[in-house]
Amino acid sequence: MLVVMQSQATEEQIRAVCERIESLGYKAHPIPGSGRTAIGITGNTGTVDIASVESMPGVVECIPVSKPYKLVSRDVKEENTIVRIRTHLGDVIFGGTDVAMVAGPCAIESREQAFQIAKHVKAAGVRLFRGGAYKPRTSPYSFQGLGEPGLKILAAVREEFGLGIVTEAIDNESLDLVEQYADVIQIGARNMQNFSLLKRAGRSRKPVLLKRGMSATLDEFLMAAEYLMSEGNYNVILCERGVRTFSDYTRNTLDLSVVPAVQRRSHLPIVVDPSHGTGRRNKVLPLSRAAVAVGSNGLLVEVHHDPDHALSDGPQSILPEELEQLIREVRQIADVLGRAIN
Ligand code: PEP
Ligand code: MN
Repeated sequence: MLVVMQSQATEEQIRAVCERIESLGYKAHPIPGSGRTAIGITGNTGTVDIASVESMPGVVECIPVSKPYKLVSRDVKEENTIVRIRTHLGDVIFGGTDVAMVAGPCAIESREQAFQIAKHVKAAGVRLFRGGAYKPRTSPYSFQGLGEPGLKILAAVREEFGLGIVTEAIDNESLDLVEQYADVIQIGARNMQNFSLLKRAGRSRKPVLLKRGMSATLDEFLMAAEYLMSEGNYNVILCERGVRTFSDYTRNTLDLSVVPAVQRRSHLPIVVDPSHGTGRRNKVLPLSRAAVAVGSNGLLVEVHHDPDHALSDGPQSILPEELEQLIREVRQIADVLGRAIN
């Protein structure tokens, strides 16, 4: 259910409606828009007895939202959500016309490795640095990440280079630490339906980058985002990173058609990760160009100065000079569309 307020509704009227909704046992989510505020109602399993809300001062109407996802839906919020990440090098904007860039290694392996790559990432003009301190690996014998010492290295990268930090939490315990260090909390594909982790991340004050599960339908993807938003975290960035198909010449099949599908249904920004999406270094560049052409709100790419010795995802990590080429090429595509790289 969605309560649409009049454009001239006062703060007190909005607050009073929220209080009434909460007193009925539901959760109220005020969503300010450019012209008016709408208030999403969640926590209702059936129809909400809303008569007493509809007659309140400042209310235009109450609209049932039939979709399973509500807060993520464009029905509830027409304008794009802008997720703004402040860095020492300036703000990175997800959800505007610009293409937001995130680059860095799959995993933080050492201070030297992280600093070396961060230097190149910054030189390429990218302001958000990615790298996992906690790695969800298929094999328990593979490198699992450095844990908190890895987060400390990321904090040192921010300090030294001014880059914002995107890093993954793999469970509720790691999230407690990750949110202290990160500028953006990543939730990985394998955790897209880890509902307790989603709820915990939904209560965090840090923005969340939510990756699509490798077999998730569009509805499941959006419902995972709904978990985050229903707990009060509205700074959600979606990420397409490829899904499993019968196609076996790439690690995953990058589903670029999900980008306009998400943008039609949801106001949330969506970025594309061509590294996990293809698993092949030589495919990252062409798929990055395609992602920008299709309207992706950003790109997340893995970069390593010595991919042959990377502790994870070396085969899909591009070299620093390839990152520079990638930025040059996607800038040309973006230009044609009246977009800039951010
Ligand atoms: C990653 O970003 O390194 C990662 C593990 O991604 P995904 O969850 O998409 O596999
Ligand atoms: Mn990776």
